[in-house]
This record gives sequence, structure tokens and C-alpha cells, in this order.
Amino acid sequence: MEPANVLLRSILRRTFKPKENISPAVWVEKNIRLSPKTSNISGRYSLLHTPYLRRIYEDFGDPRIRKVVLKKSAQIGATQLASNLLLYYVCNEVFPLLMILPSKQLAQQFSERSLHPSIESCESVRPFLTDSADDLKKTEFLFRSCIARVIGAGSPSQLSSNPAAIVIIDECDKGEDFANQGEAPALELAEDRTISFPNDKKILILSTPTSETTSIVQSQYLLGSQSKYFVPCPYCQHEQTLIFDQIKWDKDACKLEDETYDIDKVESATYYECISCNAHLSEQDKIGMVRSGIWKDTNPKSFPSEIRSYHISALYSFNVKWGGLAKMFLLSKDDVGKLRNFYNSFLGECFEQRAATIKRDDIDGIISASPAYAKGELLSKPEVLILGADTQGSSLWYAVQAVYADGTSSLVDWGEAATFDDLKLIFKNTYPVKGTANSYGIHKALIDMGGDRTEEVKAFCVSTGFNFLPIVGRNQSQGLLAPLRETTFPHKQYRIPGLIINDKTFKDILYLGIIKERSGKLFLPQNCDDEIKIQLSGEQLVEKKNARGKLETFWKSARRNHLGDCCKYLEAFKYLLEPRIKAKQMAEAQAEQKKREYVLRPPILQESYAGNEWG
Ligand SMILES: [Zn+2]
Repeated sequence: MEPANVLLRSILRRTFKPKENISPAVWVEKNIRLSPKTSNISGRYSLLHTPYLRRIYEDFGDPRIRKVVLKKSAQIGATQLASNLLLYYVCNEVFPLLMILPSKQLAQQFSERSLHPSIESCESVRPFLTDSADDLKKTEFLFRSCIARVIGAGSPSQLSSNPAAIVIIDECDKGEDFANQGEAPALELAEDRTISFPNDKKILILSTPTSETTSIVQSQYLLGSQSKYFVPCPYCQHEQTLIFDQIKWDKDACKLEDETYDIDKVESATYYECISCNAHLSEQDKIGMVRSGIWKDTNPKSFPSEIRSYHISALYSFNVKWGGLAKMFLLSKDDVGKLRNFYNSFLGECFEQRAATIKRDDIDGIISASPAYAKGELLSKPEVLILGADTQGSSLWYAVQAVYADGTSSLVDWGEAATFDDLKLIFKNTYPVKGTANSYGIHKALIDMGGDRTEEVKAFCVSTGFNFLPIVGRNQSQGLLAPLRETTFPHKQYRIPGLIINDKTFKDILYLGIIKERSGKLFLPQNCDDEIKIQLSGEQLVEKKNARGKLETFWKSARRNHLGDCCKYLEAFKYLLEPRIKAKQMAEAQAEQKKREYVLRPPILQESYAGNEWG
């Protein structure tokens, strides 16, 4: 048949035949075939395997709903959901479709491994295929009914140039580009794409979450219905959500002599304990329970009726056994990074560190993971060399760090200064790059103004010609929600530029991110003395209920921690400087002829030298 004929027929069919009013859930079960290439079950797609997804398909048939948010774990069938919805729209509507993944590579992977095989095995999509094989490209699929694009979040030009009625955003917490500073965040750009389709637009956001403060899917989830999936106990009929706390195993039967668990025994001895009648529930019970489950809204506040948000975890998955989750938990619980991954990827929950003690072993671990260098040496030419000083009590302590082009930094120098004048002398130190004749001086210093020496510190900053600038730490209850704020502090006829920082944020970055999880961002020299090891390892993260009864965590120091505070200030300083260093690096790359000038007198630092504003 001539292609024109096919097209005409399809247009006529659309115009004259009343549109089959079929819900997406019914349509996908009728028309989607699972390809053995993409799924361990082949044949007809059935919601019996993922009953909790039915409601999400139905939302796509509900004209009142504009946005669906799914905060999820792995193994719950979300990738298949995304590609099924795309095919549903190809076959039933005529709108442009857009699928966004964290990166270009992941977008190509989704096209090749999921969407392409799905198209191939779906009979119903055939009439909508054009005659040119070129129309099914890696990232752009041209059908007779519509165009579907699959792109990475890192391409703002593509994001802002293609309108779409249906936008699916997958793993929004994984790509840095979804939250990039400066430009409009990718999520906003993606949502803007739907503006020209006010009556048909639908946005689906799916992701495993990260941490409460940074998770995009979590913040979107909170805006909507916050629906949870309730399943009935087969013994007492009590409807409950499945939570990890109810996963139990016979502790005595699985304990080994050294008080650890026999992991394989745990796996087979695990059951789910009904929260109401304490019945021991099995994998077989799970299937029946999940198939008779229902979604209930749990958002206590009113929320826009067009936003539905859901949470689902691997506890509901038929592909993951409860015993497997117990095993995975035991294998992860002593390693913060693994535990974080367990919470995010299997429970679909944000992870907040609840308790931690920084030990000397942690510091020794960082030293042995650092490249070899000695106190006083630089690893290479630094982008900046910065000093942080702490004034708590009668003593003055300082730490010096170098920040390198690749974003890593190294602790270069530290110690106690007897007087403010001594600090001025230390600021004049220069430090050689290991194995070369080149040395570099300190560019800028921050000094704690939060203790009882506020006026003294201000006068000192003025006397250094603003080489030292004041920094004040605040806690969350003092109303500073942002990580830091640039400000000025009045002193006589001056306004001294300085920083107010959220103490907890930068302690989390230093003690949890850098030290406990070994982010690899900060190096320590091989010849660290006892003092630095003691002062960096005195901190403990503990939890306490706040006035409203909510659990909160805070840092408690077991002993002197001045050098830890110096490093905390330097983390705040690096946080402030990072975008400026990146901007400077870009400017350097673009203006090769001005390179020498830039390197000798970095413009970002010249402004600070002027002492008026941060620039
Ligand atoms: Zn029960």
C-alpha cells in the first residue's frame, strides 16, 4: 500500500471513527508484549506482576491530572512503565513526547535497550511506523502520529527547543544537570516544554531519591497526594504499608559465635511481621497482599488535585525477596555509602545519617588514601590557597588548604598561633609544590567571629587590609536555611565583607562526606601529627527530638575541635569559591591569549583583595 494511503486512512480513521475510549492500563495489558531482550518474563505485559502501577496508568487517562510523581526503589517496573506509556501515546494520541534521562548515555541506553525492543514487539504500533527505518533513530523516533524524543538532561538547548505534551523525567535525582545552578534547572525547563498544551499536558517524574535536602523527587513528592500502597494482612485483614522495620528473622538461629549473623541463614529465615497481629508473613502471602492492595493519600495538608505523588519500595516487588533485602541490609549497615544506597535504591527513601562517630581510624584511612606528600607541601599548582582560623577560647588555631583545578584539595599546614600578630605572619607563609622550585602564598583567610572576641576579630580583619574576613556559624534554629550567606558586618566606618554559614551543613560535608564516606575530595599529608588527628576525630553525630517531637540530628564534640572548625570554615569557603573557580577555568579556556594575566592575578581574587565586596 502507498504510504500516502496509509496516512490518509489513519487520518480518516481518527476523524470519523469515534476514538476508542480505552484506559492506558487496559491498553497496555492488551497491546504490550514483553521482549525477551528486556524482560525476564516474556509474552503479554500484565499488571498482575506490578499491581501497584495500575493506578499510575489510570492517572494518565484522567484529564484532571497533570503531574504524576513516583518516588521509587529499583525493581518495581518503572522503566517498563515509561516505555509503555510512550507507546500508549504513539498509538492513541498525536502529541509530541519527550523522555529525559540524567545523561546522554543513559538516554541512548534507554532507547536501545528498552524503547526499541518494545516497539519491535508491539503489533499495535506497526501502523504508526513510517516507511523509513531512519525515522527510528537513537534519540528521535518519528511516527505517523507523533514524534518521541529521548534526551539527556545535560542538553539545555534540546530541552528548551522542543515542545512536548507528555514529558517523562527519569531518575531526576541522579543527574547533576537536573539541578544545575545558574541556568533554569532542567526540571523547570522540562516542565516549560508543556506550556503549549494546557489541556493535554502530563508530566511523569520517576526517581530513586537521594537525601532529604537535595532530592528533587522528594520535594516533588511532598507537593502532591503522598500516596502510599496499603496491603491487607491475610490473617487479621489490617491494611498496612510495607516497611523495612517489620522484616524480621530469628536472631538466635542466625547468630554465629562471634555475634555476627550467618547471612545466608538470615536470608532463608526472614519473614514479614504483620504490624497488627504479629503474624509471620511469607513471600507467598506477599503476592496475595500486594494484588489486593490500594493506594491511600497520606498528605495531611491540602494539595493541588492535579498532582498525584506516590511512594513504592522493593518490599512490594515480586522480583526481590524479603530475605534478600534483609541480607542486603546486613551487608550494608556498617558502611555509610552502602547503607545510603540501600535506603535510596531498595527502600526508595531519602537517607539521612542518624548517628556517627568520627574515629582516628577514619582519619588514618584518609591519610593512606591520599597521594604521598608532607606537611607544608603542595601537590601541584593550586587554584587558590586559603586559610581558616578559629578563635574559640583563649587560643587561635589555623589550617591552610590548597584547592586544585580538578576540585580536590589538600591540607597543607595547621597549628596554634599565640597572638593575632602571629596569624598575620603565618598568612605571609609560602608553600612549595612538591619536587619543584615553585612556591605559592595564601590568597585569603577566614576567621571565626562567633566567639566572645567579635570586636577584636573585626578590628583584626581591618588591620590586615581585609586579607582576613570574618565568618560566623549559625545553626538551623537560628533561621539560616541556605548553606551560606555573603554579608557585611559594620565596624566603625567600615563594612567588612564576611560570611554567615550553616554550621550543620558544612560539618555534614566535612565529617560525613569527606571523612566518613571518604569522598576523596580532601587529602591529608603522610606525616599528620597527633594533634590534627585528635581534633578532627572528636565529633559525634547524635539524634534528639526537637520541640515538635521530630527527630533531628546534631553534632556534638567530645573534645577540642578547633582544627576541625578551621576545616569546616574552609569547606564553606570552597563551597563559595567553587563556581567562581569553574567560571575562571572556563574563561581561561576561552581566552587563551589572556591566560598569563589570569594566572598571575586571578580576577575572582583581585576583587576580594580590594576588600570592599566579594564580587
Ligand atoms: Zn495481621
